[in-house]
Amino acid sequence: MVYLKRYKKVIFRPEQNPEFESLHCIAELEQDISAVLPYLNTHLGGFEYLKNPPALMLKSRGRLITLHPRQIAINALKDADEAEKILRWLRKEINAIWKARDGIQPTFEGLPRPGILEILRQLPKTNCRKCGQPTCLVFATRLADGVQVPADCPELPKKSRQGLEDFLGGFMFTD
Ligand code: SF4
Repeated sequence: MVYLKRYKKVIFRPEQNPEFESLHCIAELEQDISAVLPYLNTHLGGFEYLKNPPALMLKSRGRLITLHPRQIAINALKDADEAEKILRWLRKEINAIWKARDGIQPTFEGLPRPGILEILRQLPKTNCRKCGQPTCLVFATRLADGVQVPADCPELPKKSRQGLEDFLGGFMFTD
């Protein structure tokens, strides 16, 4: 059985954040996905999970994705193509997880957030501002919130960047 069939999306640039060169997307869903959310939470490792009404927040490499019963919101997108790729991937995941749900333990809580001080320890701590933030500490909070990614710090050597990406976890969506 296909759980989620269709959605209608709107792409926009957030007015409150004009300095931020990213797009947001809201997709209105044809079906109510409430019942699949706790299974999806187990499978993808939700950042946060709210029970009533249900909502699941995921982060993936700098993007925040929030799934509500009839809506999916995605922020920090490069362009409309990326939004469509993520929505198609989510639809595929939702339908696959729903099919396999008998073998999955539903989870009704989010995973613990990564510690800001632990993230800061892994940054260069020069406060050079090349990431667009006034200090490394501010950048660390944005990493913890999933709004920016380690690659946004040009001062981080490749090995440290990979280590930080592993520490922050999060899944990668695939086309
Ligand atoms: S670019 Fe890196 S080193 Fe510079 S302030 Fe940002 S996080 Fe710190």
